[in-house]
Amino acid sequence: MRRPLVAGNWKMHGSRAENAELIDGLLQNLPAQTVAEIAVCPPYVYLWEVGRLLKSSPVALGAQSVCAEQVGAFTGEVSASMLRDVGCTYVIVGHSERRTLYHEDDALVARKFLAAQSQSLVPILCVGETLEERERGQTKTVVTRQLTAVLDVAGVAAFANAVIAYEPVWAIGTGKTATPEQAQEVHAHIRAEVAKHDAKIAGELRILYGGSVKAANAREIFAMPDVDGGLIGGASLKADEFLKICEAAQVQ
Ligand code: PEP
Repeated sequence: MRRPLVAGNWKMHGSRAENAELIDGLLQNLPAQTVAEIAVCPPYVYLWEVGRLLKSSPVALGAQSVCAEQVGAFTGEVSASMLRDVGCTYVIVGHSERRTLYHEDDALVARKFLAAQSQSLVPILCVGETLEERERGQTKTVVTRQLTAVLDVAGVAAFANAVIAYEPVWAIGTGKTATPEQAQEVHAHIRAEVAKHDAKIAGELRILYGGSVKAANAREIFAMPDVDGGLIGGASLKADEFLKICEAAQVQ
């Protein structure tokens, strides 16, 4: 049985006042028992304060990226041990915005994955194809390449403490969502790829869907057998919308 995870990626949004209002809205209206595990990933500078606001709540804290290096002269970077120190449980690695805008390649993403795990953080490894790649029929090839880059370096055992997020690039922030069937096809493929190395780990691995998920479409996507929750961007910035998405996640 896989407990679903719904993680909010706030991206570069928020302020101290807005964050406090958002967290208050979440915690005030959190159902007594949520099936899904819930996490929020604020920008680095707000992690500590948001972590304090979440204290004693069941909502976990995550970061949006991490440095591949452990410590030293890396101006502007934030290490995994720092994220652990301020209370993070999760860290997103390989988000398509990092891959595209900041030129993070598969090898760097794999190093970030390892850095996260070296400090007992749970990496949320993002994979996904662009529209051109989908139209050329390369979706599975691309996702396999991104996954294999990490599997080869970290080994399959590392996936016992990791989460994968399938995020088709063409669906992120565009309002276009993969159909439940399109998501299921790729999620099943990812699980099968991991199962080639270890069937048990593959069976327990949480694979999230991300890409324009909102309250109106979450239930049908999360109902797919290999979809174990979501990585939510824009819709995680509104407490009521995000909570409805969390409520849509059920145990598979
Ligand atoms: C994301 O940034 O991971 C994401 C899925 O964004 P959105 O939900 O806004 O498409």
